[in-house]
Amino acid sequence: MRSLFAIFCGLALILAPLRAVWGWTEERQLGSYLIRSEFALRDVQGLVDDLGDLQSDIERQLGLKCEPGEIQIHLFKSKWSYNSYLSKRVPEGTKRQALFVQGTDAGRVYAYRHSGLDTDVRHETTHALLHTALPYVPIWLDEGLAEYFEPSPGLREKGNAHRGELQWAIKLGWRPSLEKLEGKRTQAEMGKNDYRDAWGVMHFVLHGPPEAREALAKYFEEVQSGKAPMPLSQHLRRRIPNFEQAVIDHLK
Ligand SMILES: [Zn+2]
Repeated sequence: MRSLFAIFCGLALILAPLRAVWGWTEERQLGSYLIRSEFALRDVQGLVDDLGDLQSDIERQLGLKCEPGEIQIHLFKSKWSYNSYLSKRVPEGTKRQALFVQGTDAGRVYAYRHSGLDTDVRHETTHALLHTALPYVPIWLDEGLAEYFEPSPGLREKGNAHRGELQWAIKLGWRPSLEKLEGKRTQAEMGKNDYRDAWGVMHFVLHGPPEAREALAKYFEEVQSGKAPMPLSQHLRRRIPNFEQAVIDHLK
């Protein structure tokens, strides 16, 4: 046992300096974000600029106030490097393409360089910001909003691939099933089509009739009050008769 303990302590001593000296090429404080990157940030200047605007975009469009302490954004040069870093810290994250983890001291975003890096970082940082504005975000709403805010700003309303996917699904008889989405409790329960459907409902809420925005505002008010909120579906149904058809008409 003693030798095992000694080996463990030895490993801990080796790992501690490793954590401190991970080979970041650049570290930059940008407002509430601390960006650590394995490559020069000038290579992703467009993304860095978008991140600067993301908080104000979320606040303006959702009528929320984000209060980030610190959001650490970790950018890796490859999937190998991302996996290597996370396997020691958040092993379950290695199964994902990008990750957000809410810590007690900071929110942490992890992503690696590939053609979808910008989208991944905006998606995960949206989660990080939402969690500073609301004490609780149901998984379907969290993902629906992250999907909404993940394209670059000019493409959010009309340039998301989910729009075409839903237009096709509508031709095949798709109808929104908000109560089913609201029944999801974990990320594991969210299938590929659930992300698409959550995006569709949020697009309707943000760009549909004013009553839908009103319903969202009322729902956020209840979430922030700390009491169990009435589900968003009920807020929407109270204000929008034939809610399903209204969403279909909006999206098609
Ligand atoms: Zn997500």
